[in-house]
Amino acid sequence: MVSRAPLLLTLGSLLVSTAPAGLLAQATQVVMLGTGTPNPDPDRSGPAVAIVTGGRAYLIDAGPGLVRRAAQAARDRKIDALRARNLGIIFITHLHSDHTVGLPDLIHTGWVADRPAPLEVYGPPGIEAMVHHLTEAWAEDIAVRTDGTQPHTAEGWKVNATTVVPGRIYRDSNVTVEAIPVPHTSWKSAFGYRFTTKDRVIVVSGDTRGSDAIAEACNGCDVLLHEVYSADRFKTIPLEWQRYHAGSHTSTTQLAAIAGKARPKLLVLYHQLYWGATDDDLLAELKRAGYQGPAVSGKDLGIY
Ligand SMILES: [Zn+2]
Ligand SMILES: [Zn+2]
Repeated sequence: MVSRAPLLLTLGSLLVSTAPAGLLAQATQVVMLGTGTPNPDPDRSGPAVAIVTGGRAYLIDAGPGLVRRAAQAARDRKIDALRARNLGIIFITHLHSDHTVGLPDLIHTGWVADRPAPLEVYGPPGIEAMVHHLTEAWAEDIAVRTDGTQPHTAEGWKVNATTVVPGRIYRDSNVTVEAIPVPHTSWKSAFGYRFTTKDRVIVVSGDTRGSDAIAEACNGCDVLLHEVYSADRFKTIPLEWQRYHAGSHTSTTQLAAIAGKARPKLLVLYHQLYWGATDDDLLAELKRAGYQGPAVSGKDLGIY
């Protein structure tokens, strides 16, 4: 697939678009709303990504902080689709808390901000129960706002949840979304997602241990967002955590092989587990392990 994305110049780890503002508004943008992990790093909100295309934001994962990061991008980068009232659809990769504790924020802050329609939530088995329980948990708030004097939309607090199965799960005039099963700890269902828009193909790994599934889904895609941990620093963490992370996540060494097969036009690291390494260290580890393609270590509010 030929990318019609605007020319991007790489300046260190910054990507600067040379496209005129009009073209940029039409081109699909990948906006990092949170590149973090369960560790509460004040510089990195919990995992959340927005793919903005056709004037709509398609969210992936609800890490804590996503609504405020989205508001920041809306204000500072003039991306109207990321205003809280406009956040209308989200795809959850798996039900780990770091990927879902932002869901009640998305549901209720979006409603208070005047979201006109129910939130659409797609996720693995268990998502419908989670959303049901969240709505139950905020029942008193919903009743007070609905029955009181506060102006509100009638439908904005509601959620339509859909359980995802592998394969194509969603399509509208902007985007087609496919779910890719990935191995991650002992989850029976964890997914990466592949988004095909009018001008780009974007693959998001979600949390996964090293697997060819993501490489095959990318297969020359425009942007591959992939989780990663430092292979060098892995040796410094306690043995029981080594065992856990080896079954859960992808090392820089493994990612070098995956990205070599995947051949993305741009690899963006996210959900980075540093254990004391830096962004440059992660990129150097990838290079040393044999990956020579274009790569950046993602930061919150980075746009790719
Ligand atoms: Zn995670
Ligand atoms: Zn996880």
